[in-house]
Amino acid sequence: MDAHISRLLTGVRTCRCCGASFRELLNLDFDRPGICPLDLPVLDNSALLGEFGDVLTQDFCRLDESRFIRGQLVLPIRSAGAELVLGIWVQLSPDAFEHHVTASLMGGEEALEAMEGWLANPLPVNDEGPVACLAHLAPGAERPEFQITEADHPLTDLQQDEMPIDSVFEWLHAFGHDVGSLIFDA
Ligand SMILES: [Zn+2]
Repeated sequence: MDAHISRLLTGVRTCRCCGASFRELLNLDFDRPGICPLDLPVLDNSALLGEFGDVLTQDFCRLDESRFIRGQLVLPIRSAGAELVLGIWVQLSPDAFEHHVTASLMGGEEALEAMEGWLANPLPVNDEGPVACLAHLAPGAERPEFQITEADHPLTDLQQDEMPIDSVFEWLHAFGHDVGSLIFDA
């Protein structure tokens, strides 16, 4: 591994905006789908069953006729022997959503098929429009894993091939982090 990258991963420098180290920033969480209003509070998952109408919980979101789940999109940073793990939202069909909720909240044991969905948070890649993916939902697993299935989409390459370290910095910058403070001494 590149000595510079290795220093970053074990480094004690922190982002000036949020106080997180580089390694901590490799887990990026979105607390809600991109279209979800910011004033909707994040509730416990159990609220999904108790509330009517629009609701946002840690792992589920219901907005009008739209249904979303939160899961993980893992992008390998091979040059660093690390991964960028995005806690991100995917829109499912109402049927697929019900199936997933039943299995994960009510402890259904049935083998879950992968479900088709669409990424619901914008990512800094040069491609407009919704990105198709499969949500792999394993019984007992904490979070579903998302696999980009859009042919020829830049995200497909990033997931199947690798996320270059330069792109990691670009993304951190795009999400508002102070990349300079992670790389350079103040
Ligand atoms: Zn930051």
